Amino acid sequence: MNTLPPEQKLHSCLTIDVEEYFHIEAAHGHVSKSQWDTMPSRVANSVHKLLELMDQHNCRATFFILGDVARRCPQIAKTIANAGHEIASHGTNHDRLHRLNSITFAQDLTISKKILEDQTGQAVRGYRAPTFSVVPDTAWAIDVLLNAGFDYDASIFPVMHPAYGVPDAPVTPFYVTGPSGRKLLEVPPLVWEVGKKHVAVAGGGYFRLLPLWFMKRGLKQSLSQNRPAVLYFHPWEFDPDIPRLPLPLTGRLRTYLGLKSALRKLDHILSLPGREWTTMSSNLDHFHAMASNGKPYALAA
Ligand SMILES: [Zn+2]
Repeated sequence: MNTLPPEQKLHSCLTIDVEEYFHIEAAHGHVSKSQWDTMPSRVANSVHKLLELMDQHNCRATFFILGDVARRCPQIAKTIANAGHEIASHGTNHDRLHRLNSITFAQDLTISKKILEDQTGQAVRGYRAPTFSVVPDTAWAIDVLLNAGFDYDASIFPVMHPAYGVPDAPVTPFYVTGPSGRKLLEVPPLVWEVGKKHVAVAGGGYFRLLPLWFMKRGLKQSLSQNRPAVLYFHPWEFDPDIPRLPLPLTGRLRTYLGLKSALRKLDHILSLPGREWTTMSSNLDHFHAMASNGKPYALAA
C-alpha cells in the first residue's frame, strides 16, 4: 500500500453499482421485468474478478448492491463484506426515481436495505439511485432517504446530461436539502472542471468509451484541488461475454463498447501512484467536515 500523508488518504473512493446486465436503464422498454427470471445470471463472476483486482491493489470499495441481485445471489453481499468492503444500497428493482413516488421509493429502499442488512449483519448507510436519478424533479427522495435512516447519498451527478445530472450542484461533498429542509450528506462522483463546465469522467460509459486520459485528468485535478475522487463502475462492464439484449443502436454502442479492455483500464487506474482507494463510509467524517464548510444546496425546485 502507498504511504501517503493522512489528508491524501481521505480522498479516493471506489464504488461499484452491483446489478445484472439486464437491469440496466438502456434495457427499460426493451426487456421486461417478467423476462429477468429467464436470463442467465452473470454478476457473481464479474464481482469475483473485481474483488481479485482490488485485493491485488489492496483497495477497499463501496458496493451499492441492487436488492434484486441480493435476492438472486444470496451469498454475494456476504462475500463482498467478508473481503472488507462496504455494503450499500442501489435500491431494489433499478427503477429510476422518476418512475416512483415517495411511497413506492420508500418501499423500494426498505426492501433493499433489509435484505442487505439481513445477509451481512452490517448496517447499510449509503444509497445510490439508478442512473443518478436524484434531480430537482425527484427532490422528495432526499426526505425519503432521511426517513429510511440513510447517512449519505451518492446520486447527484453535477453534470449536464439529458437523462440525469444537476449541472450547478457542488463538486465536493455537500449537504443537500429536499422539500422539508432537512439536510443529507451528498457525495458526488468525480468531474473534471474545464472552465465553468463539469466534464463527466468518473466511470461507466465515460470510462469505457473515452480515452483513459479523461479520467486521469479529472483525478489529477482533484488531487491538486484537494477534492475527493469518487469513481463508479458496474460488474457487467468487466464481462465481455454478457448476452446481448435487443437494444436500439445507441443503446448497444453505449452498453457494449469497451467491455474487453475495461479490466485492464481499471487495473491501470488502481496502479496510479498517490492514491489509496477506500470506502465511502470510512471517509464520512472528512466529507461532513467538507460539507460543513459550504452552504447547503437546495435541490427542491
Ligand atoms: Zn445501476
